[in-house]
Amino acid sequence: MLKYKIIEGKVSPIITCDNCNSRIDNAGTSAVVYHTTFPKEGDYEGQVLFAHKGTCLDTLEQKLADRYDGWEELERFLSFLTHNVKLTSENINDTLKFNWETGI
Ligand SMILES: [Zn+2]
Repeated sequence: MLKYKIIEGKVSPIITCDNCNSRIDNAGTSAVVYHTTFPKEGDYEGQVLFAHKGTCLDTLEQKLADRYDGWEELERFLSFLTHNVKLTSENINDTLKFNWETGI
């Protein structure tokens, strides 16, 4: 789940695992799970859940049963997302620099 925390008066976006509710702080060890709420025919859409790889991912897959629609590496998903909102590497570098400078 996407959330935010206020830390020292600053907004800090975070991702939490939809299985254990703990914070996800390492994209390399985490995944997104596709959860469809519509019949899988033609063009359709669904929701995205987040999970730690391993037990959390396995548990979500089992909980969703026939609504489970696959999973993706979190790193890969974030690259798709940045592409789909036309965020360039230059934009990301500027934003990351700002984040490091401000501690967000
Ligand atoms: Zn978890």
